[in-house]
Amino acid sequence: METVSEPTKVWTRDQVSGEKRNVWTALKRGLRGRCPRCGKGKLFRAFLKVDDHCSVCGLDYTPHRADDLPAYLVIVIVGHIVVPMILWIETDYSPSVPLQLSIYLPLTLILSLALLQPVKGAVVGVQWALRMHGFDENNPEP
Ligand SMILES: [Zn+2]
Repeated sequence: METVSEPTKVWTRDQVSGEKRNVWTALKRGLRGRCPRCGKGKLFRAFLKVDDHCSVCGLDYTPHRADDLPAYLVIVIVGHIVVPMILWIETDYSPSVPLQLSIYLPLTLILSLALLQPVKGAVVGVQWALRMHGFDENNPEP
């Protein structure tokens, strides 16, 4: 016996109607810790705590799913700054190990802490611009 089922409806981005969202603009606003939609409201209520909504335009931030991506990106960025610097200084000057550690460890810590919030803001901005997760009000799926 053969059963006939209706074809499943597939949701795609092409069916999206509504406001245009520029990825670069949202990324830059997120880097500055601002709302990806209006660019005026604050994105964070604490160092790495994303606020519930924008205080200016009311955009709901709760659908963001930044998870561990900002930390991975910061590791990649800081690694590409610190490791070549260590190799260059070691091969050309080879200073003492205590001197090197007293420079590289604080530098790595400071760079990582300085980049975490902007990178997380950029990730949330890109997620909003690409209508990822719950940032698309037209997506019928939860
Ligand atoms: Zn806003």
